[in-house]
Amino acid sequence: MSTWPIVGHEWAVNLLAQSVASGRLSHAYLFTGPAQVGKATLARAFAQAILCERGSGAACASGEPCRTCQRIAQGRYPDLQIIAAEKNTIQIEQVRVLQADAALSPLEGRFKIFIIREIERATPPAANALLKTLEEPPPHVILLLTSHRRDLVLPTVLSRCQVVGLRPAPLEQVRAALEARGATPEQAELLARLSGGRAGWALDALAHPEVVQTRGRHIDELLALTTDGASSRLGYAESLSRHADTIEETLGQWATWWRDVLLIQRGNPDGVINLDRRVQLTQQALLFRPEQVEGALADLMQTLHRIKANVNARLALDVLALRLPKPAVA
Ligand SMILES: [Zn+2]
Repeated sequence: MSTWPIVGHEWAVNLLAQSVASGRLSHAYLFTGPAQVGKATLARAFAQAILCERGSGAACASGEPCRTCQRIAQGRYPDLQIIAAEKNTIQIEQVRVLQADAALSPLEGRFKIFIIREIERATPPAANALLKTLEEPPPHVILLLTSHRRDLVLPTVLSRCQVVGLRPAPLEQVRAALEARGATPEQAELLARLSGGRAGWALDALAHPEVVQTRGRHIDELLALTTDGASSRLGYAESLSRHADTIEETLGQWATWWRDVLLIQRGNPDGVINLDRRVQLTQQALLFRPEQVEGALADLMQTLHRIKANVNARLALDVLALRLPKPAVA
């Protein structure tokens, strides 16, 4: 099947609405893009567009939504099931439950829709079982898969899906979405910048303040490590390596920090991401030499690259931790 060009959320909604309106629906779609860019949100909006009682080709947007759109938003529509990893993997039992359910007719609408999040986490037996459904789906079944690691999705699965690639949204769009959900202008500005255009992350952070607190803790840990000796650096690397899920997020946040320090050193403070830490950023800009900061940023990028290439994470993090710069100016 085909791959659409990588598009923003609004374009994706338009493209999908056209396929609903023209009745040219595929039986399987794969939404790809960076983690928390809004893939699951898009999948749910697409499910609403397909099942909406008003049948306009799009989900109810303005005014009172229809009962179907409403229940899908609340996660209690009987013909929409969401399957996600349990203990880090999607297991064959979950696919079997899906298949038993898929064999039955929809209870309400014309379709039964299954959203499978992070399909790359399917174990090989689960992926193979799912392949059967992708090859010969019951006519009333639509599968919406998401993945931020398209490179890990089986080619046999990819080839049976309409692939929809999502790119990060412009910051003003994220900001507007946050304000529409009740964020203050300052809060919206900070979260939009921290999100890097990943609307899913921003909305999650708005609903769960601990997301921003965790990011603050990761930055504090980085700052503490720069003045720590080798043994506590290695201890930190060891404990981070045991939390595979948070490595990328943590290193990504560290990268925004060094990037901000560099912006201030270069006299360009307007572009900083960590807006709530401007005072501390200014202090840090005086403590490190620009070439140290550039080196730290390069090390981070290389570590992220290595970890994505499945190099031993512990080893990569040890090297990174030991190479973190020490303040040059006492
Ligand atoms: Zn509707």
